[in-house]
Amino acid sequence: MKQTRRRHAVAYGFLTMGMAMPAALGVHAFATSCNNGSSVRPVSPEMNARIESQVMAEMGEAAPRVMIVSFDGLRPDAISKAQLSTLTSLIEEGSSQLFALAEVPCITLPNHSSMVTGLSIAHHGVLLNFDLPGRIKSRTIFDEARDAHVPSGFFATKSKLKFLCGEQDAEVVQVASSVEAVADRVIEAIQQRDLRFIFLHFGEPDGAGHAHGWMSDKYLAAALRSDAALGRILAAMEEKGIRDETVIIVSADHGGHGKSHGLDIADDRLIPFIIQGPGIAAGRTLCRQIRTMDTAATALHLLGLPTATAMDGHVVDEAMSDSPTPDCDEPSPVFSMPCGPFPPFFLAPMAIGFWILRSTQRRKVRC
Ligand SMILES: [Zn+2]
Repeated sequence: MKQTRRRHAVAYGFLTMGMAMPAALGVHAFATSCNNGSSVRPVSPEMNARIESQVMAEMGEAAPRVMIVSFDGLRPDAISKAQLSTLTSLIEEGSSQLFALAEVPCITLPNHSSMVTGLSIAHHGVLLNFDLPGRIKSRTIFDEARDAHVPSGFFATKSKLKFLCGEQDAEVVQVASSVEAVADRVIEAIQQRDLRFIFLHFGEPDGAGHAHGWMSDKYLAAALRSDAALGRILAAMEEKGIRDETVIIVSADHGGHGKSHGLDIADDRLIPFIIQGPGIAAGRTLCRQIRTMDTAATALHLLGLPTATAMDGHVVDEAMSDSPTPDCDEPSPVFSMPCGPFPPFFLAPMAIGFWILRSTQRRKVRC
């Protein structure tokens, strides 16, 4: 469906834009003239996807804008308990699953890495959860957007998330100290620029959870402030006239219990996945089990950008309004694998096992 949708969009662009697409026609002419020459230079599928995405980016109409909003540590049941009106409206007007799953270890940086790469933690390899030097090695949505000349913005409230997006990877890269401040930065960018992809991170529900406990009054208040900040951003989009052309994806990196998170239990691993906007079905509950990596795959698909073939994430295509209404029961995930809030605790048994395995092999060689 991903390829079909992309081909349809490009074909639509050629039909409607006609001669107004010199870049697209240049590409087409190149491809045609190659067939007449003595040496045919095949265009790889990856190159084709990049050309198509560039064409779509230049057209500007075929692909919607996309904004991913990550509420750090938001449990799905906090949406009703804190009466988050913005998220409730998005659920009613869009498609949602309030039992999506964070990855193990269910901590912030590894799961946000999955959210922007579409890769499982085993594949992107980010296991640590603090400010890391450099940037993630795997390709991210920001890389795909930059290469296709799709202007993007990165806004976060925790500096460690800058590991996912360097200064050169997006048109705007900002870290602010509070949900209100980061919302102000996003609103300024919306007013002054023409961003087609925004990644936004609200860190305060997680901070309040650690300080006062998950589902405590202060945690719910932090979730409510984040919800209100998102409401202001959506109003700014409305004022700019781009709200109707923007798909909003709201999710989280993990939940929490007590004053922590990281265990492989429902409270820690269940997260919301909410998607609303043009082409998205309204009032639909999504059945297929959604995981953190699916956010990247879905955002790339909507933006008309290529997804790596090895990507672990799947496009949440049952949310698309032209898909049949899903008819299935809520899955019952089994939580069994313990995962520590501190990666060394999680990694220690693996490291010991690896050391024992290597020692055994060395002994065999000596014999
Ligand atoms: Zn945390």
